[in-house]
Amino acid sequence: MEISGHTRLLALIGSPVGHSGSPAMQNYSCQKMGVDGAYLAFDVKEEETRAAFEALRLLNVMGFNVTMPCKTAAAVCCDELSKAAELIGAVNTVVKDKTRFVGYNTDGYGWVRNCRENGVEMKGKKMTIAGSGGAATAIEITAALEGMQEMSIFAIRDDFWENAVKTVEKIHRNVPGCKVELYDLADKERFYHEIRESDIFTNGTRVGMKPGDGETLIEDRSIFHKGLAVTDVVYNPRETRLIVEAKEAGCRTVPGIGMLLWQGAEAFKLFTGKEMPAGEVMERYFRE
Ligand code: NAD
Repeated sequence: MEISGHTRLLALIGSPVGHSGSPAMQNYSCQKMGVDGAYLAFDVKEEETRAAFEALRLLNVMGFNVTMPCKTAAAVCCDELSKAAELIGAVNTVVKDKTRFVGYNTDGYGWVRNCRENGVEMKGKKMTIAGSGGAATAIEITAALEGMQEMSIFAIRDDFWENAVKTVEKIHRNVPGCKVELYDLADKERFYHEIRESDIFTNGTRVGMKPGDGETLIEDRSIFHKGLAVTDVVYNPRETRLIVEAKEAGCRTVPGIGMLLWQGAEAFKLFTGKEMPAGEVMERYFRE
């Protein structure tokens, strides 16, 4: 499609944005699905988030994505939040609904969809998950909302620890059907015990990401039991040491790259009401 006087703006705000794959995948999807929109990335610092919202409102944007460091500030700037975005406290997708900005968080959904596409369901299951940062929080809240029965969260006592404390409180208060506990990741005995009892183990930390791609949270490979699904948020490298070793041990595995694809696909659907051509986008933009 040619850009015309009717073409609507789609955008990404955050900093840095130069490396982002979102403009390529969203523009390709607009072309393929006949959407008269053009997606551009704008470098916006955290303290500029509100000004960016007002500028985009004035320009009658169709919708926009928000990346670090603006995701938390964006939740405050929206006129309305989805349940998941409200509980996560961070927004990565904003849709213009007439005059109102409605905020969503599609990161957790991206993980859920990636699991489903790989044959892993969460309803009634027990998951052990490591992490207390942005990606882990989105997964923990969304998994609880999706019917996860039990969750054991492990985190290190760094600046993110308090996030995990709050996440547990929020799940207790808002999703009482999900049993959730927080443990110190330093307690390896407990960590391995909880994984042995789980249907799913998820690495929601940055451990295993390049250049630390030789690292894994599971040093004892005997922990990988039959029936355990292993998922990772890290997508660089495409298959982390955790995923490679879990696969070798016979576990079902779900690498992080699909989460990236599906969070973008869900954003595209929220912007346009249309499905992203996900298979083509994966082949074109996300293979190694
Ligand atoms: P973040 O900075 O918000 O959180 C980092 C997390 O890692 C924290 O919980 C921190 O405590 C933990 N951590 C750091 N070093 C650790 C260590 N040595 N041992 C145990 N825990 C440790 O980062 P984030 O945005 O949550 O991103 C985390 C990873 O997820 C990154 O690799 C990022 O690229 C990836 N990610 C993937 C997707 C996707 O769509 N697949 C989306 C978001 C983030």
